Amino acid sequence: MSEQHHVFSESERLLGVRYEIRGPLARRAYELEAEGADVLKLNIGNPGLFGFKTPESMRQAIVKNLSHSEAYCHQQGIFSAREAVVMQQQLRGIKDVTIDEVFMGNGVSELIDMTLRALLNNGDEVLIPSPDYPLWTAAVLLNGGKAVHYPCRFENAFVPTLEDIEKCITAKTKALVLINPNNPTGAVYPKSLLAGIGKLALKHGVTVFSDEIYDNILYDDATFVPMATEMRGGLCATFGGLSKVYRACGYRVGWVSFSGATASHKKYLQGVELLASLRLCSNVPGQWAVQTALGGVQSIVDLTRPGGRLYESRKTVIDEVEKREHLEVVSPKGAMYAFIRVKGVGSSFEDDKFAMKLLEEEHVLVAPGKSFHYPDSDSFRITILPQATKLKRLFRSIDKVLEHVL
Ligand code: PLP
Repeated sequence: MSEQHHVFSESERLLGVRYEIRGPLARRAYELEAEGADVLKLNIGNPGLFGFKTPESMRQAIVKNLSHSEAYCHQQGIFSAREAVVMQQQLRGIKDVTIDEVFMGNGVSELIDMTLRALLNNGDEVLIPSPDYPLWTAAVLLNGGKAVHYPCRFENAFVPTLEDIEKCITAKTKALVLINPNNPTGAVYPKSLLAGIGKLALKHGVTVFSDEIYDNILYDDATFVPMATEMRGGLCATFGGLSKVYRACGYRVGWVSFSGATASHKKYLQGVELLASLRLCSNVPGQWAVQTALGGVQSIVDLTRPGGRLYESRKTVIDEVEKREHLEVVSPKGAMYAFIRVKGVGSSFEDDKFAMKLLEEEHVLVAPGKSFHYPDSDSFRITILPQATKLKRLFRSIDKVLEHVL
């Protein structure tokens, strides 16, 4: 009897799911590195790759508690970590969160999937910003939902309008995602917009998922307003984590806290708890760093104020763009990225081809705007994490490639 060979393709569930930040461009970058090239990788906001250190006190908190980290912990996370999130939320004016409404996860990434999985039925719609952080769109699709993108336009400094958001709401809309401070654009949303979103959520019965993982990475006079303080009813899920503000991407620690109409959403919260229980618990050692991180001195401020490394890198990007007549950028007010537009090229410009050419010829890896479900093909995102000298090298490389493309 001849042996039967089955060839499997990917599940249909993956159709339409993209994560190009780690896709073909990133794969080609690894190939080039394997051949010995020194690739400047600006496609991911991974502070540790650029010499940023997690605060020593957080590392110590893990080391001192390693021997208490060998058993599974509570499905929602260890007490001290959840309590620290409660206190952070209380100090921000969100008084109704208790440890029962806080879930620790293996990064915000796991919680994005878990909270959507517990919520969505097939065909339910979720509003997501465009450009987005692509995991949000992917997680909606993977959980049977439909991602509906609301525009965040360059002309409006990438701040969405209530009108545009409301136009996207239908009877099937279950949730609205906002990312503030924003990845990939660096926009920080004004209180008036958040208050308006709070009213829209109440009017249309929509849950708000507020991804606030960059909450303390702010420049100049930017002020962060937590979405949960602007809700006027309804449920708000607020996401935060150690990866960015505390430069600890590898610890894989994130959290979500629910506030507002938690009592009427009891069944949904029980669903989230069920999913948390099915994966037993999240990484325990990393959770010991949360209380230390959230209390006391916030060392990120030294990096984002004038003279600080993030401040100076951001300034370099803004200045370098300013010098060039073919580039423009909305100065990021928060987070660790710049979403740069090639001026006046419209759809004739192909962001992905440009990014590949920049990689092949200059060994610089950027993320094309397309990776973020952005409708225009004239933009790309870089992380501002490298030292200013490296960023200057980037702009010289961009000049060389654009000279041939434009
Ligand atoms: N949300 C946003 C907006 C992000 O930019 C990221 C990472 O880049 C994440 C969530 C995921 O972070 P983590 O899983 O490391 O907590």
